[in-house]
Amino acid sequence: MNRFAFYRLHAITFLPVFVYSNVYGSRLIHVYEKEKYMSASAVKETLNPFEIAQKQVKTACDRLNADPAVFEILKKPQRVLEVNFPVKLDNGTVENFTGYRSQHNNAVGPYKGGVRFHPNVNMDEVKALSIWMTIKCCVAGIPYGGGKGGITLDPRNYSEAELERIARAYSEAISPLIGEKIDIPAPDVNTNGKIMSWMVDAYENVVKHSAPGVFTGKPVEFGGSLARTEATGYGVNFAAVQALEKLGKDVKGATYAIQGFGNVGYHTGYYAHKAGAKIVAVSTVDVAIYNENGLDMEAIIKEFQTKGFITNEAGYGKEISNAELLALEVDVLAPCALENQLTSENAGKVRAKIVVEGANGPTTPEADVILRQNGVLVVPDILANCGGVVVSYFEWVQNLQGYYWEFDEVQEKETVVLRRAFRDIWNLAQEYDVDLRTASYMMSIRRVEKAMKLRGWY
Ligand code: GLU
Repeated sequence: MNRFAFYRLHAITFLPVFVYSNVYGSRLIHVYEKEKYMSASAVKETLNPFEIAQKQVKTACDRLNADPAVFEILKKPQRVLEVNFPVKLDNGTVENFTGYRSQHNNAVGPYKGGVRFHPNVNMDEVKALSIWMTIKCCVAGIPYGGGKGGITLDPRNYSEAELERIARAYSEAISPLIGEKIDIPAPDVNTNGKIMSWMVDAYENVVKHSAPGVFTGKPVEFGGSLARTEATGYGVNFAAVQALEKLGKDVKGATYAIQGFGNVGYHTGYYAHKAGAKIVAVSTVDVAIYNENGLDMEAIIKEFQTKGFITNEAGYGKEISNAELLALEVDVLAPCALENQLTSENAGKVRAKIVVEGANGPTTPEADVILRQNGVLVVPDILANCGGVVVSYFEWVQNLQGYYWEFDEVQEKETVVLRRAFRDIWNLAQEYDVDLRTASYMMSIRRVEKAMKLRGWY
């Protein structure tokens, strides 16, 4: 749902409650809710990712008994930039695009986080995503703070030449605020190494010196790191494997459903398949495909590698709805698309044993409660998908030292970081009797609060 539809919906849903509560008092709200015109959770649940991120940070700060200054600082980004930049389109007209860069916190190190191209990109979304990056980098124990950016557009509506001009203009527009030791963007939803290369080139044209480490996720031929493209999905599957182990299950023969088959979803499926899992469902923006006997992953991998996306033209399985995919009875459900996929509306229908979040923010706090009550193990985004930024960190280190590592070396280093993060968070969750998300926030906030304290911020 886009932001406007969301606000429209809430204007409609909140208004009657407000009128009733004022005119008739709270008893009638109860009747009203009982009539199921609207469920209680629908009234309370926010889908605003910024409010959700704040809530998640607050829960962990409370559980840690942190100094109130910690939440006071972490609840807002330090700086948010909005840029509007005109770009000439192929047909000769001009479109004025809107982009953002949110810099949440740099107590631990320079701001770090992706740039997405999506029609739903807005100020609150990038703010939330930048909070999640601060937390994610500290979960992984890498020396970065959190940042995030994006441009509000649907990339499918533009030619490659137009996307290049848009990417360059955005990079130039945010260039005063980014840098190798300041803020390092990377790919996110609908962006990739090619787009990073244009952005690096545009940035270097402004600053007039070489700065390969200003963006990560670059192609290997242009200062990128081996194993970076694979890194996020590799890590998502590794998180799933570790969670399966905790439930006494082997990845061999485990069933997976993957929502979203971009770079993250694809590599999650690729590594799961390699480890012997049975991928029974995958979905793209256009289609969800299900085959209870397991999809022909060899053919799917081949199609993705040739075209960069998949279809169901080859008839991999029967077509189901996105809602049906999320409700499949599988061992692992991996939402690898966007925010707010599991909400109070559908979380009760999840029959997976494990939800491993490849996307950022796919589960709302209300859905989290329902999943926990139903015994579903959720491996949160900030832990499950942190492999991407971990290898971004390795890319940046290689850029700064001008010395490049082998594929296996990078992936082994990534594995070490991911294994340690999972183990520590699992133990913390047991110790405090909290879910893995709260434990991840707690471990992370402990790190950032120490850095802020040492800097004298509170
Ligand atoms: N966009 C990815 C994320 O959300 C990667 C960020 C990065 O590598 O800086 O974690």
